[in-house]
Amino acid sequence: MTARMYYDNDADPSALQGQTVAIIGYGSQGHAHALNLHESGVDVVVGLAPGSKSRPLAEEAGLRVTDTADAVSSADVVMILVPDTAQKDVYDREIGPNLRDGQLLMFAHGFNIHFGRIDPPGNVDVGMVAPKGPGHLLRSVYQAGGGVPALFAVFRDASGTARDRVLAYARALGCTRAGVLETSFAEETETDLFGEQSVLCGGTAALVKMAFETLVESGYQPELAYFETMHELKLIVDLLYRGGLNFMRFSVSDTAEYGDYVSGPRIIDDHVRRTMKQVLAEIQDGSFARRWIEENESGRKEFERLRAQDRDHQIEQVGAALRAQMQFLNPVTVVAGQAQAAATGGSRS
Ligand code: NAD
Ligand code: MG
Repeated sequence: MTARMYYDNDADPSALQGQTVAIIGYGSQGHAHALNLHESGVDVVVGLAPGSKSRPLAEEAGLRVTDTADAVSSADVVMILVPDTAQKDVYDREIGPNLRDGQLLMFAHGFNIHFGRIDPPGNVDVGMVAPKGPGHLLRSVYQAGGGVPALFAVFRDASGTARDRVLAYARALGCTRAGVLETSFAEETETDLFGEQSVLCGGTAALVKMAFETLVESGYQPELAYFETMHELKLIVDLLYRGGLNFMRFSVSDTAEYGDYVSGPRIIDDHVRRTMKQVLAEIQDGSFARRWIEENESGRKEFERLRAQDRDHQIEQVGAALRAQMQFLNPVTVVAGQAQAAATGGSRS
C-alpha cells in the first residue's frame, strides 16, 4: 500500500485567513517557520522569553515579537518550537494557562504529546507539522521556491477545523510543494526516535567509528582511515539521496558493488536486526523516553559524560586537521557547544 501525499492543491490557505500564528522559540525550526509563514502572507507573532538572545534577530527580520504568554493569548494557532526537553516547562508556565477554546496547539515532533508530558485541555485542537529536514534547509529551499517534505497529524480536533488548519500551515511553510504525508503522533514519534538511533545518528556514528578503529588498530594510517570511513561517506549518501541504492550501485565500481552484496550483510547481520527490534521495543514501551526524561531531570550527568567521552575521539582530531585544509567543504569545528568556522592552515581566511 502506498501512502497518500498531499500537495499545494490539497491544502486551502483560507483555513488560516484572519488568524494569527504564534511561533514559540526562534531556533533551527522557529526562524524558518516564522519567516516562511510571514512571507506566505500569514500573520505571525514570535513568542520569546524577555531576555532571549533571539529577540533582536527576529525583530531585524521584520517579525513582531512579544513575551511567550502574550503571543499565546493573541494567537489562534500556537506552534511550540523550543527544544523538546524544554517544552513541558514552557508549556506549564507560559502556554497552558493562556490557552482558550478553539485554538490550535501545534508541534513539529510528537514526543511530549505522545509520552504524556503535555496534556492540553479538551477544548483545544492539537496538531503537528514535522518537516523532514533541519531549519536552515526548510528556510533556504522555501526561498528558492521549493519545499521540504513533512509529516502532518491531528491528535485532537475539538473545533472541526484542525485538519484544514494543519494542512494550511504545512502549505504556508512550503512543505506541500514537495508533499506532506499524514501520520499519527505515535507513528511520527516512534519512527523519528528509531530513525535517529538506528541509522541517522547512532548507527552511522557507531559504524564509522568502528570501521575507523578497525583500520587504525590494524596499522593503517589514521588520515587514510578518515578519508575511507568518514569523508567518502558524503559522496555515497549524495548518490542515495538522488537515486537510491540502485544509483549508488550504478555509480560505484563493480568491485565495490560485489563487496557491498557479500560483506554488507555479514557486518549488519541478524544480531543487528535483533538489537534494532529491541531498541524499537524500548521506544514503543516508553522506556527510552522515561530514561531520557529522568536524565534531564537529574542534571544530565550521564549525557555529559557520554558527550565528553566521544568528543576527542581520534577520528575527530584527525578529521579536524584534514578538513581545515579543505575550504571547499566549508569546515566547522564545535568548541564549547558552539559551531564555528574552522581555523585554516594559513593561506586562506
Ligand atoms: P533549537 O534547539 O534550535 O531551539 C529552539 C529555540 O528555543 C532556541 O533558539 C530558543 O529561542 C528557545 N529555547 C531554548 N531553550 C529554551 C528554554 N529552556 N526555554 C525556552 N525557550 C528555549 O530547537 P529546534 O531544533 O528548532 O527544535 C524545535 C522543535 O522542532 C522540536 O520539537 C524538534 O523535535 C523539532 N524538529 C527539529 C528539527 C531539526 O532538524 N532541528 C527537525 C524537525 C523537527
Ligand atoms: Mg527526525
